[in-house]
Amino acid sequence: MTDSRSIFGIIGYPVTYSLSPLIHNTGFKELGIDAEYQLFPLKENELDQFFKQLRDPSSAIQGLNVTVPYKETVLKYLDSFQPFAKKVNAINTIVINEDRTLHGFNTDGPGFLTHLTLEGFDSTNKRIAILGAGGAARAIITVLCLLPERPESIKLYDIDTNKAEVLVNDLKERVDASIVETVFSIDDLNIEIADLLINATPIGMKEGDPSLIEEELIHPKLMVYDLIYTKETPLVKLAKKNGAKAVSGLGMLFYQGVLAFQHWTNLQLEDDVKMKMQEALEQGINKT
Ligand code: NAP
Repeated sequence: MTDSRSIFGIIGYPVTYSLSPLIHNTGFKELGIDAEYQLFPLKENELDQFFKQLRDPSSAIQGLNVTVPYKETVLKYLDSFQPFAKKVNAINTIVINEDRTLHGFNTDGPGFLTHLTLEGFDSTNKRIAILGAGGAARAIITVLCLLPERPESIKLYDIDTNKAEVLVNDLKERVDASIVETVFSIDDLNIEIADLLINATPIGMKEGDPSLIEEELIHPKLMVYDLIYTKETPLVKLAKKNGAKAVSGLGMLFYQGVLAFQHWTNLQLEDDVKMKMQEALEQGINKT
């Protein structure tokens, strides 16, 4: 890192509000690192110039997160990739080396898996149903397919079935995705015999959004993982009411952040530092 204050941040559009500064700025403070995490809302036509400036040795930016809609767009600006990121084909973390070369990581998938495992779910031989075939599902499916002990099946439903098929066909070029199947209706997800249901759609975020899954399909042996973390969604409420375990994506957000922080600083965070970062995030979410 340079002598002056280092800058880290998140690029995306729009990025008017993010909880990531709470995670990272707490980490920097706890470790006595002179650095600040900022928001970089960038329009598509501003990306070329931004990445050009990033390579300038005088730039104080030492690391970035990438959010929608640029997780795939940024691939073309990078010099190298972590093998997992290459398999996902999407980047959410960039490490800027001393020679200003850019190395891409994906911590969304590992962040999800870390949280899922800490919640006591072992995917081995399990039946998994996923709603939504966007960027988040892409990272999650990749990490699950690469497990040494894999799930029995992953069924994927998207309102745009073509999108789900394109995602799976694309993944099949990089990982063994033979356990993944796209389905054409929510009924075909077979929730009644599934072990894990993941909501990777934005449905549930807005006031008045329904639960995409009907109450009678939710059973006590099902775990529901809703990636939405800004509120308790109708799906999570229904799951809890029906005796199923249900968690929000706040843990995924936290662990993808911890992993990004570790890539930037080359440090393994101690539990007490992680706890402070998590407290800051939880306080922040309670204020939203
Ligand atoms: P995305 O790329 O927009 O993907 C969402 C997908 O869901 C889209 O393909 C969308 O289709 C589909 N969809 C929308 N409504 C649907 C419905 N009724 N039934 C089935 N599919 C539907 O978004 P993303 O980046 O993957 O994020 C998905 C969700 O996860 C968001 O809520 C996001 O905030 C959350 N997320 C959380 C974390 C975390 O750390 N916890 C990380 C990443 C994302 P269309 O494009 O046709 O609408």
